[in-house]
Amino acid sequence: MPDVRNCRKCGKIFNYIGGMPICPVCKDKEEEDFKKVKEYLYQNPGATMSEVSQVLDVSVERIKAYLKDGRLEIVGDEANIILECEACGKSIKTGRFCNECQKNLSKEFRNVAGDMGSSFAQAESTKKGIGMRYLNKNE
Ligand SMILES: [Zn+2]
Ligand SMILES: [Zn+2]
Repeated sequence: MPDVRNCRKCGKIFNYIGGMPICPVCKDKEEEDFKKVKEYLYQNPGATMSEVSQVLDVSVERIKAYLKDGRLEIVGDEANIILECEACGKSIKTGRFCNECQKNLSKEFRNVAGDMGSSFAQAESTKKGIGMRYLNKNE
């Protein structure tokens, strides 16, 4: 008896052969999207998740799934990490604000930013600011 399942994406019945429970058609689509993301990150290392999503019309959820699968990697503390200043949108390499905004805001923040503030900042930057690159695992 073949293992028949419903595709998680489109709901069609297909012969399940292992891995993700999605049909061959949807799998091909996913591979195509992944190839686009991979090529884009190869040419634009450090691109942000939202940038990749917008340019390639691939959902952020999809990109996150690639990250979870270990097919893409968040760039660590290398030079090509790209964050955006939360106040003016300028590209910065660390933290939440560019130097200028940091200066302007530091007075206000000194009193408010405790432990809660900094962990919130971390979650925020993980969500939208940190760049990615393609992992050349199998090549
Ligand atoms: Zn399908
Ligand atoms: Zn700024």
